[in-house]
Amino acid sequence: MSHTIPKVVATVAQLREELRAARRAGRKIGLVPTMGALHEGHLSLVRAAKAACDFTVVSIFVNPSQFGPNEDLTKYPRTLEADLALLAGCGTDLAFVPTGDEVYRAGHATWVEVGSVAEPLEGTCRPGHFRGVATVVLKLLNMVQPDVAYFGQKDYQQALVIRCMAADLDVPVTIRVCPIVREADGLAMSSRNRYLSPAARQRALVLWNSLQLAGRLVAEGGRDVHAIAARMRELIETAEDARIDYVAIVDPETLRPVESIVGRTLIALAVKIENTRLIDNCLLEP
Ligand code: AMP
Repeated sequence: MSHTIPKVVATVAQLREELRAARRAGRKIGLVPTMGALHEGHLSLVRAAKAACDFTVVSIFVNPSQFGPNEDLTKYPRTLEADLALLAGCGTDLAFVPTGDEVYRAGHATWVEVGSVAEPLEGTCRPGHFRGVATVVLKLLNMVQPDVAYFGQKDYQQALVIRCMAADLDVPVTIRVCPIVREADGLAMSSRNRYLSPAARQRALVLWNSLQLAGRLVAEGGRDVHAIAARMRELIETAEDARIDYVAIVDPETLRPVESIVGRTLIALAVKIENTRLIDNCLLEP
C-alpha cells in the first residue's frame, strides 16, 4: 500500500497537464468525484477505481450550485488535510481540488437539466439540487475525461441522474455504482453524520432499522407498499425528533411509485434527525 500524499492540483490547466502523460501512455483513468470530508464510503470508490484503472483521480469540491439557499453549504465539513492523508492510504494518483471560481468562471451561464428521474424524491425536496449536481459532474467529466467514473449507491437517485445525463449527452464514460458502506451498527456512512450529537447519532439508526424492517416484511411475503411504508414510518417516528421528508417505494429505473412489490424495488428515505438531513436506501427483490 502506498502512503504518499497524492499530488494536488487546483486548476483545470494543471489537471490536464498531469493527465496528458497518463493518457499518452494509454493508461485507463478513473475519476471519483467527492465533496471531501472523506470516509470509508468514499474510499471504497477510490479502491474500486484503483482496482480497475491505472490512474485514479479524486476530485474534492463542495459544489455551491447543488445546495439550496437554506442548506448547509457554509457549514459543510472541509477537512482537506485529513482527506489527503486518507487518499494517500489508498494510492490515489491525483487530487483535484479546485476553487469555486475555477469551476464556475465569471459569466458561467450553462446548466444541465435532467428530466423525469431528477423530479421525484430528492428533486422535490431539494429544488435545483440535481441541476447543480448534473452540471458539476458533467464539468468534472469534461475536465478529467476519465474512462470510468465512480459513484455510490448511497445517493441512488444521483447515480441514476448521472447515468441518464451521460447516456443522453453521449458522454464517453462508463459509470460505475458501488454498494453503500455502513458503520458497524448499520448507519450509512455520510459526511453529514458528523453533525449528529451522540444521542442523535443513536436515533439516526431508525433509518437503517426501517429499511431492515421493510426487508423482513417483504421476505415474509408482504407486497402491499402502503402497509410497508406505514410500518416504516411508525418505526422512524419512534425517534422523538425525526421529521420524515419521504419514505418511497419505487421502481428502481424510473423512480415512479409502485403499487405492490413484484420485481426489483427501491426503498428510499430521507429523514431529518436533530436538523441533519439523512438519506438511505435499499434494493429489494421479492
Ligand atoms: P459526497 O462527497 O457526499 O458528494 O459523495 C461522493 C461520492 O461518494 C458519491 O458518489 C456518494 O454516493 C459516495 N458515497 C457517499 N457515502 C457513501 C457510502 N456510505 N457508501 C458508498 N458510497 C458513498
